[in-house]
Amino acid sequence: MAREVDLEAFAAALAAGGVVVDVREPGEYLAGHVPGARLMPLSVPAGRIVLVIPDPALFEVPAWSEVLEKVDARYGTEVRLRSEMTAIDGDARELTVTDHAAGTKETLAYDLLHAVPPQSAPDWVKTGPLADPASPQGFIAADRRTLQHPRHPEVFALGDVANLPTSKTGAAVRKQAPAVAANLLAVMKGAEPTSRYDGYTSCPPVTGGHPAFPGTFRACVTPA
Ligand SMILES: Cc1cc2nc3c(=O)[nH]c(=O)nc-3n(C[C@H](O)[C@H](O)[C@H](O)COP(=O)(O)OP(=O)(O)OC[C@H]3O[C@@H](n4cnc5c(N)ncnc54)[C@H](O)[C@@H]3O)c2cc1C
Repeated sequence: MAREVDLEAFAAALAAGGVVVDVREPGEYLAGHVPGARLMPLSVPAGRIVLVIPDPALFEVPAWSEVLEKVDARYGTEVRLRSEMTAIDGDARELTVTDHAAGTKETLAYDLLHAVPPQSAPDWVKTGPLADPASPQGFIAADRRTLQHPRHPEVFALGDVANLPTSKTGAAVRKQAPAVAANLLAVMKGAEPTSRYDGYTSCPPVTGGHPAFPGTFRACVTPA
């Protein structure tokens, strides 16, 4: 049974080192909260959350990574960077996380696991003549601007299967498609492909019940 305290008792407990747990939603928290209060929205299951990602940062764009670090801190999410799940025991509900930077392994128990396999091209693409030898995932080689294949000028690649230095999203495809269509028509008429994809993509991470994080930007990595 929760006990109500008045403001004076609250301030005294806070001054004595008490921890404030704010159970409202992120939008309400952002609108105003007790300094140092830890956000644990009732809509988010209580418990330990561990985020394991192979990258050296939470996001490729440093400014965004900093925002996401704050979001994780707010939720109390433990982050393991440069790490991957390398083994799983479903019966024991345990998994092994390998920290590739430190060369250490850690066993974590779980109740709920959300595992995402590494992205790669389909095998028939990976082993085919269009695959980019520079792409370990076997994506199709393409000029980052014209999207034309370097060895097969009659071929253009767009979407997730293209080896482009930008994040793979539907938003990126939307901007790549007009360039491919124009360039394909040009090449079919014997002309040079002059239409350019500018590297646009959009990755909107949802960080709570309130979409407080603006998601659209020019590119995760903009082609030079
Ligand atoms: C969980 C999730 C959330 C996402 N959210 C967003 C978002 O909010 N905004 C955004 O912009 N992007 C988002 N994306 C990314 C977006 O879905 C992809 O970038 C986009 O779908 C890529 O389109 P594509 O046509 O290149 O590839 P796909 O959509 O993968 O289409 C390829 C198609 O080819 C078919 N295929 C494969 N092999 C063969 C074959 N041999 N013969 C015939 N057909 C074949 C496949 O079945 C598939 O239908 C999200 C992706 C995921 C997984």
